[in-house]
Amino acid sequence: VDRRGAGRQRQNAPRRGVDLSYTAMLTFEESIFGVEKVIEITRDEVCETCHGSCAEPGSNPAKCTNCGGRGEVRQVRQTFLGSMVQVTTCPNCAGRGEIISHPCHTCKGRGLERKTVKKTVPIPGGVDSGTQIRLAGEGQPGVNGGPTGNLYIEIKVKAHQFFKRKGNDIILNLDINIAQAVLGAELEVPTVDGNAKLVIPAGTQPGKVFTMRGKGSPILRSTGRGDQMVVVNVDVPKTLTADQRKLFEQLATTLGTEVRPQEKSFMDILKDVLGG
Ligand SMILES: [Zn+2]
Ligand SMILES: [Zn+2]
Repeated sequence: VDRRGAGRQRQNAPRRGVDLSYTAMLTFEESIFGVEKVIEITRDEVCETCHGSCAEPGSNPAKCTNCGGRGEVRQVRQTFLGSMVQVTTCPNCAGRGEIISHPCHTCKGRGLERKTVKKTVPIPGGVDSGTQIRLAGEGQPGVNGGPTGNLYIEIKVKAHQFFKRKGNDIILNLDINIAQAVLGAELEVPTVDGNAKLVIPAGTQPGKVFTMRGKGSPILRSTGRGDQMVVVNVDVPKTLTADQRKLFEQLATTLGTEVRPQEKSFMDILKDVLGG
């Protein structure tokens, strides 16, 4: 009976190469419209001198006599359960099945060369932080003739000055002044396509959200685009000119509000109360 060998992968069985990952930093605009990124990755490639044979060109590797080229050795042990076959990696050839008398001078007999390669990666529009792009066969080489691993590009998007991403929509927080909110206005609003017209109706309340159709992000691996959502904040003036103040006071009268201009500062009132 072969107990240890059962289900165990042979030493020289083909194995898939290791996957590699790379983080690509994108600007907000690049994430929306797509970009071609030139990336640099360091990985192993099959040695150009020996083409992965590990032997110096012109030299002939000899079949390992210890294992007969199988890369593993079997030992039969007698136990009280009967005879057991133990399979181990051939110590003579380290599982390779052949003995390389003249290792390749380029790769020192590894069969692989460490290389830094530049790749141009087309990144489609509509990606967001966390999007992964798979480049099949761009990872580490396979072992014993196994397939090459993959390269995964992880997308990270830098924060934008105005725009925020929410799914396929773009959020824009927009300050309007109190007159624009009350009277309505036609505004030039930034979008990823450039400025666009947005009509704010009279009586717009703070926190009101306006939808600009089709001004959002392209939908990844599909057609169409999301929307831009404009969240309106009404900016209440903190300082007024004398004229503006007069107008607001008149307005207050028409609104039926009694205005009591604060003659003393809050600190003065406190001092009066506390007798300071
Ligand atoms: Zn080589
Ligand atoms: Zn051997």
